[in-house]
Amino acid sequence: MRRRAGAAVVFSAVLTFGFVSPAHAGSPPREPVATGFGGAVASVDPDATAIGLDVLRRGGNAVDAAIATAAALGVTEPYSAGVGGGGFLVSYDARTGTVHTLDGRETAPAAMTQDAFLGDDGKPLPFADLVNSTLSVGVPGTPATWERALADQGTMSLADVLSGPRSLAERGFVVDQEFHDQTVENAQRFRDFTSTAQLFLADGNAPRVGDVFTNPDLARTYQLLADQGSGAFYGGELGRAVVDTVAAPPLADGVTREVLRGGMTLDDLTSYQARQRVPTHVVHQAPGAGGPVDVYGMPAPSSGGTTVGEALNVLDAVDAQRGATSDPVQSEHRKLEAAALAFADRNRYVGDPDVQDVPQSMLLSPEFAAQRACLLDPGSVLPRPVAPAEGCTTGGTGTPEPYEGTSTTHLVTADAAGNVVSYTLTIEQTGGSGIVVPGRGFLLNNELTDFSAAPAVAGRPDPNLPGPGKRPRSSMAPTIVLKDGRPFLAAGSPGGATIIGTTLGILVDRLDRGVDLPTAVANPRVSEQNGAATSAEPAYVDSPRGRALAAMGHVFTPTEEIGAAVALEFLPDGSVQAVAEPVRRGGGAAGVVHPLG
Ligand code: GLU
Repeated sequence: MRRRAGAAVVFSAVLTFGFVSPAHAGSPPREPVATGFGGAVASVDPDATAIGLDVLRRGGNAVDAAIATAAALGVTEPYSAGVGGGGFLVSYDARTGTVHTLDGRETAPAAMTQDAFLGDDGKPLPFADLVNSTLSVGVPGTPATWERALADQGTMSLADVLSGPRSLAERGFVVDQEFHDQTVENAQRFRDFTSTAQLFLADGNAPRVGDVFTNPDLARTYQLLADQGSGAFYGGELGRAVVDTVAAPPLADGVTREVLRGGMTLDDLTSYQARQRVPTHVVHQAPGAGGPVDVYGMPAPSSGGTTVGEALNVLDAVDAQRGATSDPVQSEHRKLEAAALAFADRNRYVGDPDVQDVPQSMLLSPEFAAQRACLLDPGSVLPRPVAPAEGCTTGGTGTPEPYEGTSTTHLVTADAAGNVVSYTLTIEQTGGSGIVVPGRGFLLNNELTDFSAAPAVAGRPDPNLPGPGKRPRSSMAPTIVLKDGRPFLAAGSPGGATIIGTTLGILVDRLDRGVDLPTAVANPRVSEQNGAATSAEPAYVDSPRGRALAAMGHVFTPTEEIGAAVALEFLPDGSVQAVAEPVRRGGGAAGVVHPLG
């Protein structure tokens, strides 16, 4: 990495290009809401959103813009996203009126065994040892996702969409507080690897706020992908560099701790495929949106689509069994109980569908939801953990929620023709494995930590144990909602297992309660995961509703910040409203091609 003071980059831009574009003088503005026509982009980062909008202005469609935005996030949000990771992309094709998904999940090497995360004593290895290791590095899926999405539904080449992100990596971006803080939080483990320290701690310390951070190695990586396609990664020189790094991570002098090694081979890379999967689908009553909607999401190996879908079905079933409620406390109580029930079934049933049966039609059937809904009591809280799929009886043992990270990033795009993309991508933890592939400018993921090291409840089948060529269960929940067969809403969030609660919360606020989308995104968050306590932001816990829920028996753990969502909605006048966070993660960036007003 090269670090330069902000003023110096303006000067060099003047010399190099003869003008100072806003991107050189500083970052584009962070607007949390934008409404207009011609297409829209929302992401956590202003440079990435600007690059997506530029693709739309150049005639690209929503898929082209989504891949460009994602690649730009690989530059500006390298601790959350990049070619060293994976993700899930849901898209609406306006030509056919259908929703598609791409599973670009990281995959375990063929050499991975079910006991890979157990020590000699048969007990799970310390989680921190897995996090900072190459044993937890999955075969990345992001380059394949980009190429496949463009081939299936894009109009531009990979080279076209990577040109903006490549020059962003070259000219750099202005370091903000978030990037500085995330670097500081990871500095200790970054120092263990020479390649990571060279890139992110160039003079021994985190880049300062206002510095310009360039990543010429990543620019060259993007150029290789542009020139050679994803073959540069899956078998080519980038892939060989990944395999070498997994085998022998570049440890700094004096590092004495053991770094667990994975067994990834070039064959693991050449056999990788981003898979098209049938989206999850539920019909939801959506009284706050004027009638039923079709909610499409990501199927297994993500649990996002089935868990959000089951919770929405349970809410509809409760309304049918007991009548709708306009009482805010009762409505929220129903949402939390529905989420707990859905999480119980998620942990019991969802894993890689290519390795074992995942009963997705059962989990998403209204009849199943009706059986689960009858457990709800309006005056008391179901004891946690709620047991999975046992019909209208309580008791049994639920599965406690395993740890998942809080990193990742989500983006949404739409174009003038009505194509829509909702895409979540990740390298797992903030900073992934902490290991940069030397000379290539990107971090390797540690996604395989999403496997359960051992069955979460002894004696109960766990669908999420490690295995050869297996994809770990995810919580990512990129969602697209249609109304009357046309796109209505797209939403999603980062945040590990909290993604499900964040996405469910935005959908319930907008679709059921009629809250406008910017407010639904900004509202205080809660994440019910069927554990002993429910994570909730302080503003949620300290509200009259939060106190009333606590009095009913809900137990909250205050959590400073949950999720950094983005979303978009097609408004009745045909305009599109793009929405990003006003505050979380320093605020996101929404933009439209032709703003209204
Ligand atoms: N690994 C997580 C998942 O796939 C995402 C990580 C995060 O959001 O922090 O669900």
